[in-house]
Amino acid sequence: MIGIFGGTFDPIHYAHLRTALEVQQQLELAELRFIPAAVPPHRSQPLANAQQRLDMVRLAIQDQPGMTVDGRELEREGPSYMVDTLASLRDELGEVPLVLILGMDAMLGLPDWHQWTRLIELAHIVVMERPGAALPEQGELAELVRVHRCEKIARLAQKPAGAVWFVSVSQLDISATDIRARLAAGASPRFLLPDAVLDYILDEGLYGVSGQLPGG
Ligand code: ATP
Repeated sequence: MIGIFGGTFDPIHYAHLRTALEVQQQLELAELRFIPAAVPPHRSQPLANAQQRLDMVRLAIQDQPGMTVDGRELEREGPSYMVDTLASLRDELGEVPLVLILGMDAMLGLPDWHQWTRLIELAHIVVMERPGAALPEQGELAELVRVHRCEKIARLAQKPAGAVWFVSVSQLDISATDIRARLAAGASPRFLLPDAVLDYILDEGLYGVSGQLPGG
């Protein structure tokens, strides 16, 4: 099984990395692939450009077994729709089980995604639970979960797509928004993200950084 972890990664941080590792281990994924959104359709546009965000993911996972980065969304024009990404992966990889990994916040916004009902035809959906963030009890998202929820983890490896699985992960209160705000205020975000990523941010002068930060 291949896990697909999409996001803006503006920048990638330890909550992305730690939760990805925990999902990779629990689902015994052969590969966990980070796919940065070039032009995220559902939110404000990132501050770092797509190549810089791809570079930061690459630096964050270098030497980490089973983790890879995939730049295919940088090669397409227009909004980076996940449905197009999954369709191109499916064309390329054949019938291998694909697992789309979403935080609960992303799951709650799923009905706004382009052609969202096709996602479950192209991949399994694995939702990282968060305390306080519950699924609605009624509506189209509740219906998707009712139809596709799977209780036995072994079932995921037996078909290429079509199951919804909920997974518990360590709760880490780290966000890219907070890291950008610290940097813009001249404060160091060290230890919230890998040193190699912070060094890259300082070298490139991203997020309003200029010069040395107190705390390194
Ligand atoms: P921003 O603060 O800019 O909105 P972010 O830190 O939430 O960014 P994204 O790149 O938007 O990061 O998120 C990519 C994916 O990672 C989403 O599925 C999101 O739910 C998940 N994610 C982000 N932060 C966490 C966290 N602290 N714990 C678990 N999942 C997270």
